[in-house]
Amino acid sequence: MPPTKVAEAMADVVEKYINEHDVMIFSKSWCPYCKKIKEALRSANVEFYAIELDKIDDGELILAELINKTEQETVPNIFIKKQHIGGCDKTLEALKQGRVATLLNTTDTEMKHQGVDNDTLDSYDYDLIVIGGGSGGLACSKEARSFDKKVCVLDFVKPTPIGTTWGLGGTCVNVGCIPKKLMHQASLIGEYANDSNDYGWSQLEKARQHDWSKMIQSIQTYIRSLNFKYRTDLRSKDVVYENAYGQFVSPHRLKLTDKKGQTKEITGKYIVVAVGGRPKYPNIEGDTKYGITSDDLFSLNYDPGKTIVVGASYVALECAGFLHGIGREVHIFVRSILLRGFDQQMASKIGDYMSSIGIQFHHQTIPTRIECLEEGKPGKLRLYYRQTLESGDIKETYEDCNTILFAIGREACTQDLNLDQIGIHLNPINGFKIKTKEEQSIHVPWLHAIGDCIDEQTMPLGKPLELTPVAIQTGQLLARRLFSTSSIKMDYYNIPTTVFTPIEYGAIGYCEEDAILQLGQDNIEVFHSEFIPLEWAICHHREEIKAKSYCKLIVEKKTGRVIGFHVLSPNSGEITQGYAVAMRLGATKNDFDMTVGIHPTCSENLTTLSVTKSSGDSVEKEGC
Ligand code: FAD
Ligand code: NDP
Repeated sequence: MPPTKVAEAMADVVEKYINEHDVMIFSKSWCPYCKKIKEALRSANVEFYAIELDKIDDGELILAELINKTEQETVPNIFIKKQHIGGCDKTLEALKQGRVATLLNTTDTEMKHQGVDNDTLDSYDYDLIVIGGGSGGLACSKEARSFDKKVCVLDFVKPTPIGTTWGLGGTCVNVGCIPKKLMHQASLIGEYANDSNDYGWSQLEKARQHDWSKMIQSIQTYIRSLNFKYRTDLRSKDVVYENAYGQFVSPHRLKLTDKKGQTKEITGKYIVVAVGGRPKYPNIEGDTKYGITSDDLFSLNYDPGKTIVVGASYVALECAGFLHGIGREVHIFVRSILLRGFDQQMASKIGDYMSSIGIQFHHQTIPTRIECLEEGKPGKLRLYYRQTLESGDIKETYEDCNTILFAIGREACTQDLNLDQIGIHLNPINGFKIKTKEEQSIHVPWLHAIGDCIDEQTMPLGKPLELTPVAIQTGQLLARRLFSTSSIKMDYYNIPTTVFTPIEYGAIGYCEEDAILQLGQDNIEVFHSEFIPLEWAICHHREEIKAKSYCKLIVEKKTGRVIGFHVLSPNSGEITQGYAVAMRLGATKNDFDMTVGIHPTCSENLTTLSVTKSSGDSVEKEGC
């Protein structure tokens, strides 16, 4: 056969191999690099087809054709989905960056659409695009930038049904932790005013008047300064910020839509979904027209007046707490239990405390519709509800109020991301959250998710972990793993949390129910104490409502390790943070006992616990 005919025949042979096998390796049986890449592909569960050019008759001719086609003289010579990847190192790199998985998950039409037929997929606009400029997204993007990567972060806030919107920074800064804690502080100041008479400040109690608009103005001014700081911080770090809504068009490619409806497309080698969540509505008549959520409350431009809070978890109890603390009449509609997922003894103590200060709980209650009695700011609303009485009878009735605040949980902002375009399916059962693997990747290694929008954010014990510091740390660790040699993953154990109810509740690790369930009642010991914080001891109004603090440590008998920490007292947030270090280091009950307390504090009670629950001895602590 003339040489040109031989070359044409070999070109056909090579094309056939490449077309018939998604992952095609032209290899030599003795070559260590060929062995290395095959092992790497096997351990990544990537199926491949290899021919050993030194073992077949036309091996040298095929090699000549491969050199002609790819200008690569060595083996292994690798093609994935008909694209030339290169040798061992380039394929390992492609595996690491997720390009192998991307190619294998991409249909031919999508490849054409992306214009990658003749592309090595190296030419992206950005190394990293983060969708969502909240706690997790900002932390991840800034960390990635510290490795000198080209980073873009998108943030866009869809207005609430009544039109509330806000700036860069996500939930925590604008409609979460920050305004919530400031309003909690406003309510504590009111409480101190109640205490003040016994401390000799008679005028404070008398002058007690709270101005809603003044509080909102101070808080919103502060939030705007934070929004500005976040923007300038991104600019100074050279992170590109797009105030636009991101949606997937195809793998690695997003469509951005800005406020004016203008669109553009950008591509990223890695994409991180950090879109957070938004409050749910109960889907009853009048809910979105007359009801509000925490997304509206913190910037509400009128005094909410008498408020019904629907829901009984973190958000509901905290908002109810501070609204009461600043002097508004507050009712809480509880569907089943308080603080699902938390230690129920602690939850019930919080409920008792909140009732004792005048918050009205309506148990086993479900709202059914809202009627507007009077338009206005605030207007007058009637909330119809169904209540299951202790007898089992159902009572249908209503409660009038000025404001109805729904705090019935949150849904991840994933439904409009077009995730189905890249083969990710969402489930309403888990609030449309994204299921990720341990290292936050989704089913292709170039795509990750962090923060409130991911599904696995539950402690081993099912306690929710939709928390700012969790989103931040997860984002930072992810960026380090993607762009440096770090392999450190997020540790979801022993994450401390505090519920900022009128009496704060701090918790780390197991709740008592779960400790019993996991380890067995006989294998744990609970040490506890009930005490009156010194700062309350001389206050008559605290005495009248029998206000008390409580703390307990759950200890694994076999090891002596403290596996659950719970404190209900003033400043629990501050107390719990410090003990979280000890818990992380595996502190035992003996370590707590050997720690010298700081006197007189609430915190010191945790270093002197001697009464066990099983003894049945009195839990009340007297004096020092
Ligand atoms: P987010 O902070 O919600 O950020 C996501 C961002 O992405 C948002 O700005 C969103 O608008 C944007 N976005 C969504 N979709 C797109 C898209 N397609 N394109 C562009 N942008 C998009 N945690 C605590 O640790 N302590 C507390 O005291 C506390 N208090 C809270 C009080 C309340 C009332 C609430 C609601 C939450 C509270 N949290 C608290 C929880 C905390 O706020 C969240 O865990 C944290 O903000 C989650 O961060 P994230 O980055 O996952 O999402
Ligand atoms: P959750 O999902 O924790 O709780 C929802 C509450 O609403 C439950 O009490 C639930 O009752 C009730 N509920 C649900 N649907 C209805 C309905 N149709 N009618 C009446 N009641 C209903 O949501 P949250 O919004 O409170 O909190 C979301 C997350 O935000 C938390 O998990 C937390 O991680 C984070 N967060 C953290 C804070 C902090 O760190 N201090 C503060 C605030 C929020 P049931 O038990 O019957 O299901």
